[in-house]
Amino acid sequence: MAAETTRVIRVAVPVPLHGMFDYLVPSNVAIAVGMRVLLRFGRRHLVGIVMACDVTPSVALDKLRPVERCLDESPLLDTALLKLLRWTARYYHHPLGETVATALPAALRRVDAAADASRNRGWQAVSEPAVDAETALTRAPRQREILATLRTAGQAIAQATLVARFPTAARPLAQLAARGLVEAVTLPGGLERGHEGPAPALTADQSDALTRLRDVEGFAPALIDGVTGSGKTELYFRRMADVLASGGQCLFLAPEIGLTPQLIERVRARFDAAIGVLHSARSDGERADVWRAAAVGDADIVIGTRSAVFTPMPRLGLIVVDEEHDGSYKQGDGLRYHARDVAAKRAQDAGIPLLLGSATPALETLHNAQSHRFAHLRLTRRATGAAMPAIRVIDIRSRPLDGGLSDPLIAALTPHIEAGNQVMIFINRRGFAPALACHDCGWIAPCERCDAPMTAHAGGRRLICHHCGEQAAAPQACTACGSTQLLALGAGTQRVAGALRSRFPHVTIARFDRDATARKGRLEAQLADVANGTTQLMVGTQMLAKGHDFARLTCVGVLDVDGGLFSADFRATEHMSQVVTQVAGRAGRADRPGEVWLQTRNPDHPLLHRLLAGGYAGFARAALAEREATALPPFGYLALLRAEAHDSQQPHDFLAEAAAHVPAGGELACWGPVPAPMARRAGRYRAQLLLHAGTRAQLHPILDAWQAVLPKLPLARRVRWSIDVDPQDLL
Ligand code: ADP
Ligand code: ZN
Ligand code: ZN
Repeated sequence: MAAETTRVIRVAVPVPLHGMFDYLVPSNVAIAVGMRVLLRFGRRHLVGIVMACDVTPSVALDKLRPVERCLDESPLLDTALLKLLRWTARYYHHPLGETVATALPAALRRVDAAADASRNRGWQAVSEPAVDAETALTRAPRQREILATLRTAGQAIAQATLVARFPTAARPLAQLAARGLVEAVTLPGGLERGHEGPAPALTADQSDALTRLRDVEGFAPALIDGVTGSGKTELYFRRMADVLASGGQCLFLAPEIGLTPQLIERVRARFDAAIGVLHSARSDGERADVWRAAAVGDADIVIGTRSAVFTPMPRLGLIVVDEEHDGSYKQGDGLRYHARDVAAKRAQDAGIPLLLGSATPALETLHNAQSHRFAHLRLTRRATGAAMPAIRVIDIRSRPLDGGLSDPLIAALTPHIEAGNQVMIFINRRGFAPALACHDCGWIAPCERCDAPMTAHAGGRRLICHHCGEQAAAPQACTACGSTQLLALGAGTQRVAGALRSRFPHVTIARFDRDATARKGRLEAQLADVANGTTQLMVGTQMLAKGHDFARLTCVGVLDVDGGLFSADFRATEHMSQVVTQVAGRAGRADRPGEVWLQTRNPDHPLLHRLLAGGYAGFARAALAEREATALPPFGYLALLRAEAHDSQQPHDFLAEAAAHVPAGGELACWGPVPAPMARRAGRYRAQLLLHAGTRAQLHPILDAWQAVLPKLPLARRVRWSIDVDPQDLL
């Protein structure tokens, strides 16, 4: 192979190996940095991204393979994004090829890029139909409603949007089409056009905040610390309008559960702009379309969840991270990145503003604001003037509970039900009961594969492990003593809902948890009934804590704050306070003040007191002081090395060898190896090693050294291991 006729390119290949790989490309093929190439790696075919062209090969030229094919005519990833991905790989100590692959939508990662024809399906009303809609649809209210929506829009609406609004839209749409009243169309590129809508006059707080935001040029991170309903979204919108007016693109990140049809609808009803939505509910093909449209600058606004932080946007002018405290911004496996932190890096590189909004900011973010790295804007009143609900405690020590509910709680919520208002019961545990126990000897039905009890489901007849998914019928008798007196201990959402059903047989009750909303469209349908007021009682997990629209919610009960007060995880009290504050924020409207009740066996816990007396801000002050005293984040930096294996000893031995590479003494502390809080999960033994340092600069050299030596350790191939930088949980 003659050197003049080929070029050497350096490629990020999606394999769990650090470094890049060199390949050959014939000189007559137009190749550029940021394009995808199909290549062979070992025996596999993979899609890689060109990171550099015309490099000096790392091995002899005749050892290099040619790429099979170049998959793009122009670069898919621009240099700014490639730079961000390089930083991400370095910071999280994750292989570059896998990092780049995480950023790409699945459809663009696939070797066999199969076309998905139905993905751009949209519908529009036929302008002069042959039949009269009024007469034809007298007995078809759903069809009438959908047709009215399409006629009002005056343009095509994506099928996905219609299904989000009318969960069962597919059938009525087909019937409307059969009647010749609507027709299917193919929409371009997954984008939707919004239209300009009215903006409310700002409150004094909002207008002060906006002035401050507009005052700063270039990279300007700001925390918008505002209670639920204080008008944070309105502030994002004003800044988005500024950016759009000057020709920029806006990236809007929302947590998985927060990216609701309501939010999308609000954006669409405000901006005359091309809007793309990147959501896990969209098909791979749709996501790839939105992504490409953003990359070529066609999308003005991209709204998406965690991974959308990697959307290429050449004219990016603003990043918004809504509910910035939300745990779903941190990826729990593979590339363990935090989208908020990546967003901050991206905004800094691009020299643009970053808006982080929350009613319950993460302690890290609050600390950044308090130390003036971020502007701190407070909105303390609701934009609509509604009062914040009062939060009170019910001491349940030595009180009987019926399905997790105490009598005082039942007494507190009954008048709300009778007045026709809505009540929400929050319990962060799905299933019927967290354990099945023997009344005679105390034995608890364990998962055979995990160090955890099985959760009772279906009234206690089935057992499911929430950690590994193992299922079994509940035993007839105790395995330890043979007694048949088996009891379901404690309560989960199913049991609470059951207890409420027998107390309030004539009230419509809905359960919100992963089991109840697993079927596609189910969550949307249930939420629609909450928004229109049909459902009066809601029982649910965190799913209920997010930005949903409750028509008449005036009372909230939180059943299990104690779990958050006593946990092995140092962030547990922070999460508990956030959840309590977030669910409380759902209650109360201008005309109906709300109340919130917390059931606890620890009414005197100091952090609970802070929360009740000083709200989330009061809690955060105390919690930050505690973190400072213990040098935990944000006053220290952590990295966690996890290892697991079927053998009980190997994870420990592997970590001990890793620990031997950490220099003794100095500012760096190395804790472990110790068994993980759940020492066995899904049949694997788990151990961990925690690194703690006062600064990032002390931590990262060790991680760099690990990255080089750990793969070569004798046990590296026998255990599954991973490095987690800035871990969010130590479980
Ligand atoms: P947040 O994002 O802080 O929860 P939103 O921006 O969603 O708050 O505002 C809460 C409610 O108040 C929304 O219904 C919104 O339309 C309304 N709202 C926001 N700003 C104003 C304002 N300046 N005047 C009147 N209503 C407002
Ligand atoms: Zn027993
Ligand atoms: Zn299990």
